[in-house]
Amino acid sequence: MHQQSKFCEQVNRYFDQAAALLKHPSGLLSQIKVCNNVYHMAFPVKRDDKSIQVIHGWIAEHSHHKLPVKGGIRYAEFVEEDEVAALASLMTYKCAIVDVPFGGAKGGIKINKNEYSIDELERITRRYTYELIKKNLIGPGINVPAPDFGTSSREMAWIMDTYLSVKSGELDSIACVTGKPIPEGGVHGRKEATGHGVYFGIKELCEDTKKMKKVGLPVGIDGKKVVVQGLGNVGYHAAKFMQEAGAVLVGLAEVEGAIYNPDGLDIEQVMKHRKETQSILHFPGTTDIQNSNEALELDCDILIPAALENQITAENVNQIKAKIIGEGANGPITVEANDILFKRDVIIVPDIYLNAGGVIVSYFEWLKNLSHVRFGRMSKRFEENMHGKILHAVETLTDNRLSAELYQQIVQGANEEDIVNSGLEETMVSAYREIRHIQEGYNDQIDLRTAAFINAIDKIVVCYLELGIFP
Ligand code: NAD
Repeated sequence: MHQQSKFCEQVNRYFDQAAALLKHPSGLLSQIKVCNNVYHMAFPVKRDDKSIQVIHGWIAEHSHHKLPVKGGIRYAEFVEEDEVAALASLMTYKCAIVDVPFGGAKGGIKINKNEYSIDELERITRRYTYELIKKNLIGPGINVPAPDFGTSSREMAWIMDTYLSVKSGELDSIACVTGKPIPEGGVHGRKEATGHGVYFGIKELCEDTKKMKKVGLPVGIDGKKVVVQGLGNVGYHAAKFMQEAGAVLVGLAEVEGAIYNPDGLDIEQVMKHRKETQSILHFPGTTDIQNSNEALELDCDILIPAALENQITAENVNQIKAKIIGEGANGPITVEANDILFKRDVIIVPDIYLNAGGVIVSYFEWLKNLSHVRFGRMSKRFEENMHGKILHAVETLTDNRLSAELYQQIVQGANEEDIVNSGLEETMVSAYREIRHIQEGYNDQIDLRTAAFINAIDKIVVCYLELGIFP
């Protein structure tokens, strides 16, 4: 059995590799790397059978160089302090890479959500939120949680409602959490944002002629064979957008096992089958793989691990056949495996860039909440009127008339979803180009992860220097 480093240690090793290439003062680098605070709480919750159970939860605030701090809240039975701190540090670097003006944070509750009723989950979530409020660890300008593994818009609505009940009258209080349902102040496009961002990032890589040449694949997503591990929020949406762009989903994995079909799987049909049978296995026309982890070793061009950390390790790395690995999950590849894959010229699109779509659109939601107005509300009609006038002028000048359908397509003003998706795509594309530019500056001798860390560290250093803390 190979010795596997703790998650924090792994992130810090990546940080150190990048920092070693830079000339920043060591004290400043240590301050950027360290997790500022981790708070552990234990509280009682009454189960439906009236018994009392002690629940353990954490919140980590990695860096306060920008406020508020931000990160998802995870519900999983393996949650522990090291994991929460490591995930908080990834959030700091992620926000810097995509120019989201937040510090990094993360929360976690040590429960298997499937073992609790909805009422119990609500009691746990509300109590956790109350503990955060008591310690001033949540608020629109302090710490703004979001969904992560095991949580969704439902939990975010409970968090917001609990916060509002304590802080009634606070003007911006609904900005205390993001990933909320739309009627509760959420933003269109947030639910699918992380998977959508994964797609935009991989698409940009696949348009990169030099990169595709290196792995011997044609340019573009169309026709590429893809395997996705984890069909939750991130994995399902990543698979959906990849499929819509013409990729062929040859393998899909969930906790109960995996399915394989070299001719392609339809993600919507598979999800429907899973809803009906509680399993992705036995999907018509596919080969079942009982051990879900073996899906990582399937023959494919692009592998998207979108479940959890430490999935590709020194144990299974030599069986990995993908030429590109897009890290939908946080930390799915251990440092040991990462080094081996780099030597094998496998392109890894790192988590701190690739799964940033969630925090990008969370930032948009936070802005929407602070401005108290829906994106597009003030401009949509104006844009439509202007487009109409331009088209009318063109039609008059050319003495031609567009079809009603085409006219409608061109005239249409941007609604909230259009604006959010355009902001997401622009941010993912620009960030990819920045990271690539850094990588090329090192003659492609460093991997995309190191380039992404360099990008993050440089931006955070500038921020600290502007604060005047480090002369
Ligand atoms: P989720 O709870 O919605 O889905 C995770 C899915 O993975 C579940 O369906 C679960 O059954 C499945 N799974 C768990 N273990 C598995 C295994 N060994 N093999 C196959 N499937 C397995 O969680 P999510 O929000 O999609 O998060 C997934 C990952 O993405 C996590 O690492 C999370 O930190 C990261 N992430 C999430 C977001 C977000 O916006 N939700 C943003 C950035 C990063």
